[in-house]
Amino acid sequence: NHKSYRKWETTTVQTTCPYCGTGCQIDMVLKDGKIVDAEPANGPANKNLLCVKGRFAAFNFAQSKDRLTKPLIKKNGKFEKVSWSEAIDYIAKRFTELKTKYGPDSLAGFACSRSTNEDDYVLQKMVRTAFGTNNVDNCARVCHAPSVHGLGMTLGSGAMTNTIKDITTDVDAILLIGSNTTEAHPVIGVQIRSAVQHGAKLIVVDPRNIDLVKNSKLHLQLKAGTNIALINGMMHVIIEEGLADMNFIEQRTEDFDKIKALVADYTPEKVAEICGIDANLIVEAAEMYAKAKKAPLIYCLGVTEHSYGTEGVMSMSNLALLVGKLGKPGCGVNPLRGQNNVQGACDMGCDPFDFPGYQKLNTPGVVEKFEEAWGTKLNPNVGKTSTQVMPAAGEGKIKGLFIFGEDPIVTDPDTNEVRHDLENLEFLVVHELFMTETAEYADVVLPGLSYLEKDGTFTNTERRIQRVRAAIKPLSGVKQDYDVFTEIATAMGYPMHYNSASEIMDEIAQLVPTFGGVSFDRLENPNGLQWPCLDVHDPGTPIMHVHEFTRGKGLFMALPYHPAKELPDDKYPFVLSTGRELYHYNTRAYSERTEGITELAGLGRDKSYIEMNQVNADELGIKDGDRVRVSSRRGTLETYANVGQRVLPDAAFMTFHFPDGNANIVANPMTDDIARCPDYKVCAINIEPV
Ligand code: SF4
Repeated sequence: NHKSYRKWETTTVQTTCPYCGTGCQIDMVLKDGKIVDAEPANGPANKNLLCVKGRFAAFNFAQSKDRLTKPLIKKNGKFEKVSWSEAIDYIAKRFTELKTKYGPDSLAGFACSRSTNEDDYVLQKMVRTAFGTNNVDNCARVCHAPSVHGLGMTLGSGAMTNTIKDITTDVDAILLIGSNTTEAHPVIGVQIRSAVQHGAKLIVVDPRNIDLVKNSKLHLQLKAGTNIALINGMMHVIIEEGLADMNFIEQRTEDFDKIKALVADYTPEKVAEICGIDANLIVEAAEMYAKAKKAPLIYCLGVTEHSYGTEGVMSMSNLALLVGKLGKPGCGVNPLRGQNNVQGACDMGCDPFDFPGYQKLNTPGVVEKFEEAWGTKLNPNVGKTSTQVMPAAGEGKIKGLFIFGEDPIVTDPDTNEVRHDLENLEFLVVHELFMTETAEYADVVLPGLSYLEKDGTFTNTERRIQRVRAAIKPLSGVKQDYDVFTEIATAMGYPMHYNSASEIMDEIAQLVPTFGGVSFDRLENPNGLQWPCLDVHDPGTPIMHVHEFTRGKGLFMALPYHPAKELPDDKYPFVLSTGRELYHYNTRAYSERTEGITELAGLGRDKSYIEMNQVNADELGIKDGDRVRVSSRRGTLETYANVGQRVLPDAAFMTFHFPDGNANIVANPMTDDIARCPDYKVCAINIEPV
């Protein structure tokens, strides 16, 4: 549409924010073919709101002079610009050689949770058909894979059950666990604050004194890694006080007796000791949540990124099942997905266990269904997760890797080991917007397109599929990302071609039952579509599990508490948790290319820092702003002390936003046993003055 903007004639193009999973709608304001501003649009999840990243940092990076413009091949240790045809032929030749010599399972591909559903669908198809392996994954592995696995097992579907509007409007209480919402999902954070202003009682469960504590009735500042004990304690109180919803339990769940037997032992006093909180708080929180008519449970990575992360997620559904708060408005179990399209990357089958739409490799008939649709024989074996691929590369079992829009050196725990793993590969391709630390290790670097130069869709945290619209022309000489994958597959002997992103979505709709009614035409509706959307008459599903759970009955899982796999000791006496903050985003690939945003972050948060408690700082003679050395069993880094009361004594917090002092140098790579997600929240470290 056209409108008068300031003094200029401008046009706008509505698209979806490329940062967090909230899925805010943005109007990109264009003058003379360049984006000059970004304004909030009235999307269903953001109601004309944007946070600082969407408002100021969502377009400059795409017009940055740092963009890669040509394919690069490393020759004699130096990157040389080459033509697309040379790059594609070389990639196809090298992957084919490795496949022939070591077998298809020596290859792997990582998808991009920031890119579109259509790109990710084609990427996983390339890996499964041309590479011949199911070693394909996305960055959900290091964040919400436990939600996909955990809720998948207990409810039958691993996604948020309700919608953002529903869980922040007209609710009586909100149970918020392990989510620093105002910084990680700021526009949802605003809506939680608004719900509180309208009378909702907020219960915050978080080891840190996060901003939303100010708006809460109760703050359970438990020790990191003790969620399961707390939930078992709350369930103990609910059962003892007769607050369980026995009708719901009898009609819609199974294995209640097992959970009842387990939690009998989790008295508030015992749990208080494990969690380091007052037993009365556990009773109050249990009563407040159970007695509220409408009360959503909202959680984030403080639940998933643990040694027992998948069990922690199943604890969330245990609690909601116990009080019958599922399948109803204003309730549900609601994981807030991190990146703009990490929900979509999972939905599209960028996962070693599932074909698109969570159709499991080991379910009879699924492999055959995709063999028929894609016209080729497929590998029937479950693949490796990204957290298994990297060590396998270090051991020489994975030989060739294609990384689309990921930077594991910066994002994955134990940086030194990740470097070793990448060095050990025989062939690495990185497909990126910019030269990254990981790309420096590549044999071939391919230039990619930003979301502002492509058509497609993102799926936000509430399962809402929304349009991504090209606002500017693709950078000269850079191909559509899905064209790159089809050309590599074709050169490896599996012919593939699509004329448009819309055509790819049509194929997805044919093969994925929950996307059966999705098409670009229907997505012109400003509300998008929430899956499951089974056919063209289906308006989509705002609330899941209304009549029955996706798996039939809701399954209680009796889960005892276990301490984290790495605990503090005399040498490493502090527990470090890592996370993100408001102004920066993950590797800062986008936000660091936005002038002024680092300054806006404010003193102390414009560079690497470690939050520590005043008590420990006094003991160690450390003052706020001092340089400190942080070490773990994996490595050592230097950073600045940020001293205060935000973390508990003997606890610490860091981000991984800054290359100089990246928390991942020391972070803990131990994973949970089911989803294989690393424990970013409990890592034993030492802190000392420099
Ligand atoms: Fe973008 Fe998330 Fe901010 Fe919305 S809340 S503008 S989706 S980063």
